[in-house]
Amino acid sequence: MKVTIIGAGPGDPDLITVKGLRALQEADVVMYTDSLVNDELIARAKPGATIHKSAGMALDEMVGIMIEAVREGKSVARVHTGDPSMYGAILEQIALLKKAGIGYEIIPGVSSVFAAAAALGAELTVPELTQTVILTRVEGRTPMPEREQLRDLAAHHSTLALYLSATLVKKVVNELLEAGWSENTPVGVVQRASWPDEIRVRTTLARLEEDMKAHGIRSHAMILAGWALDPALHDSDGHRSKLYDKTFTHRFRRGVKE
Ligand code: SAH
Repeated sequence: MKVTIIGAGPGDPDLITVKGLRALQEADVVMYTDSLVNDELIARAKPGATIHKSAGMALDEMVGIMIEAVREGKSVARVHTGDPSMYGAILEQIALLKKAGIGYEIIPGVSSVFAAAAALGAELTVPELTQTVILTRVEGRTPMPEREQLRDLAAHHSTLALYLSATLVKKVVNELLEAGWSENTPVGVVQRASWPDEIRVRTTLARLEEDMKAHGIRSHAMILAGWALDPALHDSDGHRSKLYDKTFTHRFRRGVKE
């Protein structure tokens, strides 16, 4: 018996993976972050499973419950929002499980960055515009390593996906302007992506703070910034991927001469 760490996806209970759902349905003990994981998903656990909410628990208590359950021969599902590898705080849980000699497996999930991109109808990697997405956050109570300050990361002018930053927009805007981003750089913000009360805001760097305020967005939001978010791309003929270009030869198709 082991602990299965499951990515629940961004909110919509149907956005868990098939494998994740199966593990959830088979678990004897389920522990989940109650503020962020949809209760509708947890309701799919098997009847009679013991359900724990972890939001009010300290690390030792949380992992203690998991260890005890596994030692009693029970299977444990630890459900995290989005994908567990992004700001999931799973590392300290894994370290304690390992110390106790308990095995674990991680089942990935749909991170909120992808749910937000889907909500905005965006491709984050647009040919000849940017082929890179930087997943990061701005410095709040958790200090950022010196070499990862937003203004330095932004120097690449790639797409930026900002987690945990909705209350720090002023800083986001200042750092990006400092990095040389123009005020009219497109920004998309999605609060509670894939939940029934999802809010989508399309704006620019200059209007970001004001527009977020106008929509009352202070938490649970993904900020996607960069020219890949330009809504005008949907109506333009430029930036076509070579993959579907008929003159381009690749592994699955021979190109034709024009
Ligand atoms: N592991 C999660 C991230 C946890 S950190 C994941 O992969 O998505 C929590 C942050 O994630 C929030 O501050 C917010 O920036 C983002 N987030 C999580 N769920 C979200 C959702 N449904 N919509 C928008 N942002 C979300």
